[in-house]
Amino acid sequence: MNQEKTNMVVDETLVNLSPFPSFVLNRDGQVIIWNDLSKRYFGYEMEDFLITPSAIKTGLLSSLSTEAYQNILLGKESLLFEKAQLLTKVDTMIDSTIITSNVTINNEPATLVTCILENSYTRMDDSMQGLKDLMNGLYSSYMVVTVDAEGLIINCNPNFLAISHWTPKRVLGKTFWQLFPDNESNMKVTDTIWKTINSGQIWEGEVEKITKDGSPYWVYLTAIPTYSPATKNYEFVLFEKDITNERKMKHQLEKIAYIDPETGLMNAHRLEQVVNDMIEEKRHFSFVYISIDKYYTIKELHNSQREDNLITEFTKRMKIYFQDSEMARINEHEFVVITPLGEWFTQGFLTYLKQNPIYSGNVAVPISISGGITRSPQDQSTFPHLMKASLATIANVREAGGDNIVSLSNATHKAINRKSIIEKRLLLALDQQNLKVFYQPQVDIHTGKFLAVEALVRWEDDEIGVVKPEELIPIAEETGLINNIGSFVIEEACKQAVKWHKAGLDLKVTINLSVREFRDKNMAKSILSTLESTNCPANLIQIEITEKFALEAEAETSIIKQMRQLEEEGIVFILDDFGTGYASFRYMQLLPIETLKIDQTFIHSLLQSEKTQRLIHGMVQFGKSMNLNVLAEGVETKEQQKLLQEYGCDAIQGYLISKPVSEKIITQLALNSIK
Ligand code: C2E
Ligand code: CA
Ligand code: CA
Repeated sequence: MNQEKTNMVVDETLVNLSPFPSFVLNRDGQVIIWNDLSKRYFGYEMEDFLITPSAIKTGLLSSLSTEAYQNILLGKESLLFEKAQLLTKVDTMIDSTIITSNVTINNEPATLVTCILENSYTRMDDSMQGLKDLMNGLYSSYMVVTVDAEGLIINCNPNFLAISHWTPKRVLGKTFWQLFPDNESNMKVTDTIWKTINSGQIWEGEVEKITKDGSPYWVYLTAIPTYSPATKNYEFVLFEKDITNERKMKHQLEKIAYIDPETGLMNAHRLEQVVNDMIEEKRHFSFVYISIDKYYTIKELHNSQREDNLITEFTKRMKIYFQDSEMARINEHEFVVITPLGEWFTQGFLTYLKQNPIYSGNVAVPISISGGITRSPQDQSTFPHLMKASLATIANVREAGGDNIVSLSNATHKAINRKSIIEKRLLLALDQQNLKVFYQPQVDIHTGKFLAVEALVRWEDDEIGVVKPEELIPIAEETGLINNIGSFVIEEACKQAVKWHKAGLDLKVTINLSVREFRDKNMAKSILSTLESTNCPANLIQIEITEKFALEAEAETSIIKQMRQLEEEGIVFILDDFGTGYASFRYMQLLPIETLKIDQTFIHSLLQSEKTQRLIHGMVQFGKSMNLNVLAEGVETKEQQKLLQEYGCDAIQGYLISKPVSEKIITQLALNSIK
């Protein structure tokens, strides 16, 4: 995307006009403009930066993180750092707000850095040239007001009169408090100042004041208590610097920093503030999230020139249609509109877009959008939740083909509710041991002998009824409760394996583990300690991991290490859902896998399609060539079994043999299978 085009063009003169220490960095971090105020406040000269390209990073900006520094150089967006610490040439730290914006200089992209110093108005020259000179200097550049111990104004200088519009005659004898606006927040500040100086301390900071005619202005005030030999009493001298313009400028800059340069819309940071403010003010609004469908495809089909045009044209239509609403650009092709307008109006934007197509040359670009409406406070009442709900809604819209704007539907609402109920009840179930484990046999395809059983978790809750693993496991993974389910199933499986072993049944027990469980660095350890506490030999336990798991584990050495450790103890790993992941078999070399389990979707269509038959045949051959056992899951018919047997498959699991059943039934079935 060509963002540089819309950048502000700057040159040295312009940067020197800035009322703040400002400088410009090129993309390599080289300082290419260094204004006079920067020299004055930071002490460095241009030459100081010529030594190495990163001199600014090791010097002035040394307290910024490398990441922050890189982002400044990248200049992708305008950034605002509050309370940054700047290192001067003489090794002192200055507090400053830093604002960066992307600019163009000599046709090259660069970053303009503006430093708004916290205390820049009180810095005095180091070289003291006599008290008199100093006083004269202060009198000519500051507004100076002296008040007596009672708070009555006894003296002031022309600078003060010029800005405050008072005449000397009128102002003398007025009180200290009359210089400030008399609203509640100001009264508090005025009180603090008065108390501070009366306790003999200096007060300094930014305050709002009013002129004689009541118009506000801002000053940086330093209020100093002194003793007057003439009156033999305390006096207070107020030095003030007018900072009204700087404040205005700062606000303007802040606004620039929060705006997406390409579209002029707010950026996500600003949106968050605006939304937080609205929530605080208890306002009702709809949070409309809009995402351009198939944006990257459209982008591919058009050259970059047109793609720029696409976003500006799209934004134009949004601005016209939603007029007075607040709008933000969240990323390249996603937007948020904050509007009090109703659902039907918002949905009308779809029609509006069709009636006002965006042209690329003479062709209308077919643009459709997916949108989600979330109301606040009815549906969600925090910014992160509004975003989360919107993304969920958009994902649903996308799945249904896009080109639609829908409200956080009742269905979604119910789903969210059900999810939170499940979370709560699951905690209880774990606590009261209400979960159960069923077992499904994995049998030798030739002899029908039971080789192992797969442990599958079952949960029937008194209140919400049966919760299927498909629903339970993802929720448990999201909430972290999967670890609790995992330890429960492992313990049950171990106890059961021991029972069967003692009963003379040669049955292994297979458990399912998710990648999330293995992220726990102590997973292997806790499995081994369960084996120990239940007296279960490790070779009775097998672990199924999915192909998706394998792909993720490939990149995480700690997972691989743990798997190896378990393998060394005698635990066997089975690759579940084989064929559903990506076609990369690197993990085969890395992970200690002993058995491939062909996913049931392939088995289900085995008889319908010759292509699937060739595919499955290939999978079996692949497994065999890798010296692995091959197991097929979801086998429901004799025909399926027969074909699999022909292909050379070793074992099967599925309704043909048995559904997942209780441990008692397994014992019966297993005994029968030996007879
Ligand atoms: P999975 O590991 O692929 O388990 C096989 C699923 O297929 C089981 O569903 C099983 O009941 C079902 N199935 C087996 N044979 C047939 C068949 O012939 N026809 C049909 N139509 N289905 C068959 P279930 O028990 O509902 O489990 C669903 C998924 O939940 C499992 O898929 C597994 O990924 C997960 N899961 C279950 N228990 C646990 C557990 O304790 N821990 C973890 N992490 N995941 C579990
Ligand atoms: Ca499984
Ligand atoms: Ca499976």
